[in-house]
Amino acid sequence: MDLVDLHTHSTVSDGTLTPRALIQYAKEKGLKAVALTDHDNIDGNQQAIEEGRRVGIEVIPGIEISGEWPYGTLHILGYYITKKDRLKNHLSQLQRVREQRNFKIIEKLKQSGIPITLKEVQHEAGGTQIGRPHIAQVLVKKGVAKDLDQAFHRFLKKGGAAYVDKFRPSPEQAMEWILEAGGVPVLAHPFTLNIKESKDLEILIAQWRRFGLKGIEVYYPEHTPLQEQMYQNLAQRLELIITGGSDFHGLNKPGVHLGTGYGNMKVPYTCVENLKSCWRRIEKGGNE
Ligand SMILES: [Zn+2]
Ligand SMILES: [Zn+2]
Repeated sequence: MDLVDLHTHSTVSDGTLTPRALIQYAKEKGLKAVALTDHDNIDGNQQAIEEGRRVGIEVIPGIEISGEWPYGTLHILGYYITKKDRLKNHLSQLQRVREQRNFKIIEKLKQSGIPITLKEVQHEAGGTQIGRPHIAQVLVKKGVAKDLDQAFHRFLKKGGAAYVDKFRPSPEQAMEWILEAGGVPVLAHPFTLNIKESKDLEILIAQWRRFGLKGIEVYYPEHTPLQEQMYQNLAQRLELIITGGSDFHGLNKPGVHLGTGYGNMKVPYTCVENLKSCWRRIEKGGNE
């Protein structure tokens, strides 16, 4: 059986392999296709595609967009991102809001008497996109918190002294951005939505389907066999396609392997075929 991995991260977001190295690694692992799905960023896709052509592996240009979800984590994967301009605008706006957020957090910390500067946080990030983990690291280094957990708990988490709300697109907006970019929106790892009843989940996903959702990520390292079965049934009932991937982050998620997750995940190539025909239908103009 030809195997694929449709959920991976590179150094463009929070993975440790560059887009090119990731594609080479996928080729070495014998995968037939791989999708690059960096968080809120499509900048690695071009390099990944070029490397794919060079080494002879099918590369799907993708993204993973974080949406607003009060009960847990909501991620929407987008596959075959081809019309980039408007999506890039949305993403750079998100980026600006995120930078402002870091700045506001630092201001709040200063106001509560903690001497911390943007420079220190940037230094901690070492040239990568700065975020709360880097602020937490500075707090630990300064001895303000004894470890990262405490830094988050006392200062950075909701309810903490320096918490600042984040801005994220709504799930519907995230799907719209992907559709606008000519892509196929797929719900990532449904278990992180924290919806216990499958009936409730079905109602929700049926609703998103009307907004343009095309698929569900069924194969995922952390899904139990029961969850996998449940999501598969759900996809079938709602006529959604099925995808899967490891959510590989390189050394940032040790133990999660490219292609196989914790070791026994298998994502068949038919997932790519179904994605591709869905994409072609969208291309033809029918949003169905
Ligand atoms: Zn995710
Ligand atoms: Zn991911």
